Amino acid sequence: MRDCLNFVDGKFVETGIWFENISPVNGELIGRVAMADSTLVDFAVDAARDAAAPLRALAPVGRAELLRDVAALIEDRFDEFVDAECLDTGKPHSEASNLDIPRAIANFRFFANLVEDESESSFATGNADSADAVNFIIRRPLGVVGIICPWNLPLLLLSWKVAPALACGNSVIVKPSEETPLSATLLAEVISEVSLPRGAFNLLHGHGSGSVGEMLAVHSGVDAITFTGESATGSKIMRAAAGNTKALSFELGGKNPAIVFDDADLDAAVRGTAKSAFTNSGQICLCTERIYVQRGMFDSFLDGLKRAAEAVVFDDSLTESLQIGPLISKAHRDKVLGYCDLALKEGADLVTGGGIPVFFDERDSGFYIQPTIWTGLSNSARVVREEVFGPVCHVAPFDREEEVIDLCNDSSYGLAATVWTQDLDLAHKVAAELEVGMVWANTWYLRDLRAPFGGVKSSGIGREGGRYSLDFYAPPSNICVSSVK
Ligand code: NAD
Repeated sequence: MRDCLNFVDGKFVETGIWFENISPVNGELIGRVAMADSTLVDFAVDAARDAAAPLRALAPVGRAELLRDVAALIEDRFDEFVDAECLDTGKPHSEASNLDIPRAIANFRFFANLVEDESESSFATGNADSADAVNFIIRRPLGVVGIICPWNLPLLLLSWKVAPALACGNSVIVKPSEETPLSATLLAEVISEVSLPRGAFNLLHGHGSGSVGEMLAVHSGVDAITFTGESATGSKIMRAAAGNTKALSFELGGKNPAIVFDDADLDAAVRGTAKSAFTNSGQICLCTERIYVQRGMFDSFLDGLKRAAEAVVFDDSLTESLQIGPLISKAHRDKVLGYCDLALKEGADLVTGGGIPVFFDERDSGFYIQPTIWTGLSNSARVVREEVFGPVCHVAPFDREEEVIDLCNDSSYGLAATVWTQDLDLAHKVAAELEVGMVWANTWYLRDLRAPFGGVKSSGIGREGGRYSLDFYAPPSNICVSSVK
């Protein structure tokens, strides 16, 4: 049993109110989580505000050193972090140890280097005859940043926001998902060992609506909210945050298309698309849920994708096949199974999957679902329009380039897209036409921390990543100094 406590003003805090943390692998209790209440939220906001002055007193190089200390301490406890992430999410060990935890460490190091190397320009200004003033551009931290995170890549997504926020001199109040409290609690342990000013990092556990998430969004002492989660939640946070016009950065849902042209490398397109549809059981915002295949390639692609889906394994066995875990919760699996029923009602042909795998072991009490492929629906079907967030995809044929661009853009979402073709001119041309924040051509989820990350339409507001993160967490201000005449 593992209990998770809040971390406020440099101390771990209980509240006497607990909620349960349930394993998605077998439905059993992992431990209890101390739920923050409004008094603790106020206390955390006060502590974070008090930390502003000592944080400002730290030069960027000092903050960078502290972030590197955090990275080193996570590395020292690497296996504990991997175990925590696997316990909470049920994801395969290989994924947590190759992706989630190394990327979290990389986030702390990357943003440490970035703020250390950052420099701004200054320039002279004046009238036509004389340049009698100089503009200096400086970056100011926002103040207290509320960080509200989802459960799908818990530490990776949390560190993606905590690292740049602290690097820029903000104090933070972090609310991890109620489904995945463990790695955030370990991070608080690690941070308690470094010399960050007390109150610079606070962790509050709890739920969203009517709980800690909403309390942070509405709180007048919180200057900004950076949020990753569902688009509908983003709308609620936006309303709640309107009171003191908080700065907002939103990374929201997606209904990401993949386009496979006739000239694509079939093996690469099948392997890449299986990965983009089924990795992490489809629970990555960047996962592909709509696949459009040019007619000449349709049958062979569908056949290959079906075989790849049926080869997926639900354990950590050493295999070439894709390994996946369960969905995060029973409620989420019920939602995904609801879409499986809806697809059939809407007239889909089921190519494979659509149900619950049987293991004859403890996993039968967990929240697993088979990788699922449908065909036969039009772009107006709900299953083709709404984000499902499971290992499911719909495959449809197309004939012409303009047609597929229209099909892809016919969506309220605009997060990411993938294009498979050997014609790189075509890849560039189509990519520029797609109404999304990110396009991958002949690959998927290849991330460089310098690249901007974020969506358009209902998929997000703003950009994070590299210098784009600095623009949010420490926006530039101008100081114009004139010579005294
Ligand atoms: P969610 O919106 O249900 O919850 C996310 C977080 O918001 C949780 O911590 C939750 O407690 C909190 N929350 C819920 N209601 C709230 C409210 N009214 N006020 C304040 N906080 C509230 O999302 P989820 O189910 O945890 O995550 C899955 C979603 O996240 C999917 O839609 C996925 O596409 C999206 N996502 C997007 C990105 C991206 O970068 N664009 C990355 C990962 C996940």
